Amino acid sequence: MLPPVRCFTCGTPLGHLWEQFKARVAAGEEAGKALDSLGVERYCCRRTLYTAVTYVEELALYSVYRKEREQVIRKYFHVGEG
Ligand SMILES: [Zn+2]
Repeated sequence: MLPPVRCFTCGTPLGHLWEQFKARVAAGEEAGKALDSLGVERYCCRRTLYTAVTYVEELALYSVYRKEREQVIRKYFHVGEG
């Protein structure tokens, strides 16, 4: 997943905000408040950053499920043990 360099809608540069925004959301800060304090006011720009973070979280979730699924398959079907 590439971080959004610019807002998809209005073209405002957002790349410099990405790491900070992502880190603050990961630390438990509410996404809306993080965007407010970073000065991201337009809804199109907020959406661009917010959906990018949501997408990363979904991918992380998937990788956890995948690991669990592989463990279950190994346990009950005795495959993938080499
Ligand atoms: Zn925008």
